[in-house]
Amino acid sequence: MIKYTRSKYALLLTLALTLSSAAFSQLVQDSVDLQPYDLKIEDDESDEADSVLFITPGADTAYPACTIYGSSWSNIDVNPYGASLANIPDTIPINLAGYTHPNHNVITSRFGFRRWKFHYGIDLRVAVGDPVRCAFDGRVRIARRGRAYGNYVVVRHYNGLETTYAHLSKIKVKVNDEIKSGDLVGLGGNTGRSSGPHLHYEIRFIGQAIDPMMIINFETGAPYTDTLSLAAYHFEYAKELEKVQYWTVRPGDSLWAISQKTGISIARICEINHISRSSILRLGQHIRYR
Ligand SMILES: [Zn+2]
Repeated sequence: MIKYTRSKYALLLTLALTLSSAAFSQLVQDSVDLQPYDLKIEDDESDEADSVLFITPGADTAYPACTIYGSSWSNIDVNPYGASLANIPDTIPINLAGYTHPNHNVITSRFGFRRWKFHYGIDLRVAVGDPVRCAFDGRVRIARRGRAYGNYVVVRHYNGLETTYAHLSKIKVKVNDEIKSGDLVGLGGNTGRSSGPHLHYEIRFIGQAIDPMMIINFETGAPYTDTLSLAAYHFEYAKELEKVQYWTVRPGDSLWAISQKTGISIARICEINHISRSSILRLGQHIRYR
């Protein structure tokens, strides 16, 4: 296991939190005179208001990667940390040895933009009841049912990563269970916001999702390297995400009108929304223009 120094990561987390609030106020300022539409987060449970961040006294030695996360140990929130890592100056070594690929290699949806949503994981084809296995040694942080994720499990690993397994038909672990790489976390399913059985699989660091395909070879089911150098470019998409803006279609709006008001050409708007010039706009439809 890689040894971390506490001060370095405490500093990193503080930096990330500062950047996050600065970026947020910039985002708010940027969208003042247009009709902003909040980006909907696919497969995210952040709309649930009952989120609680549990601070457990003395948890420092009990929970994985405490040098990075301190005593943050929420049993509800996938991302209670509010960090932004798109500008981290350093690389962070992450030990990927002992990885188990959670299930099949057939990808049905990739990480990234999905029209007006962002997909923070990768979807893998499973049959209902297929075993879903844990990626690394760690401890179960969340095992519950959510509206979007359905039955899902989040595991904090000793290497600092957290993995999420969603839409399970059955959960086979309990909160706070210590588990090993390859252990069964649940069975494949179709629960939550899901149209057909699949496993929604996420890899995160301090709450920030990483495209699993950047670090795992999905043809072999093995990491590209045993020691990942996590860097700002792994979180580059977050900058794109902050830039993305949507127009909500109101009475009288046309592609021409939206183009005039946003200063973005009709051709470009059609391209990023996968629509044609003759598409009929619906009231309330979200048209991405940036
Ligand atoms: Zn998904």
